Amino acid sequence: MPVLYAPLLAGKARELSGYLAQGYRTLGRILSVEPPGIIAYLVAGEDWREAPRDNARPYPPGLPYFTRSVEPPALVLPEHLSPVFRPHTAATLPLTVWHELAHAFLLGREVVRTPTWLGEFVSQAASAAVARRVGLPLVEHLSRIDREPGFTVRGFRGSAGAEDQMSFQNLLLLLAVAALEEFGEGFLRRIVHALWEEDEIVDGERAVELLAGALGEGGREWLVSRPEFREDPL
Ligand SMILES: [Zn+2]
Repeated sequence: MPVLYAPLLAGKARELSGYLAQGYRTLGRILSVEPPGIIAYLVAGEDWREAPRDNARPYPPGLPYFTRSVEPPALVLPEHLSPVFRPHTAATLPLTVWHELAHAFLLGREVVRTPTWLGEFVSQAASAAVARRVGLPLVEHLSRIDREPGFTVRGFRGSAGAEDQMSFQNLLLLLAVAALEEFGEGFLRRIVHALWEEDEIVDGERAVELLAGALGEGGREWLVSRPEFREDPL
């Protein structure tokens, strides 16, 4: 996967290229798809405002994103991840890169709107599945996540601040890792292909149905038994 960067960032670009190559190859296998034709921009702090994006206003610095405003579509990766990303461990950067890459794979075909938790769950599960395949240990990272932030993944309101957004992503990561342990990684291919086949907006109930179906036998019972997934706050 090509990475464009300013010459000063050559070292960082090498590190990111490694994660991107691992993610690109591995996600193609996990999802059984031809990887999308995309590139990555590694952007220095002072150039952040000039980076390609979907909206007129620059995005907050340090937050990676995927944009289809350029051709080929691009992952925009900051020189330094925002301190909002926590826990801060050796797994933080690769997990973040693979999360964005998974969004790019999903958006490689038309997708209907879904509740935020479902799209983000897919990306978190995909990045955890890549970690498993490439042998990146997550034990320390997971042990540092707050398991009771005061809401569940379905009770979360998207308008929250950056810290709560991170807690939301971390709860999804815990749920995703538990799902991978319980069901294996096959549900990822099934949920992504199921989302590509949906042609109407996916509401909350349909989202649960799709995910439970993708997990397979016992999927719904397992999902609703998970503390992160309850409808009411913890
Ligand atoms: Zn995301």
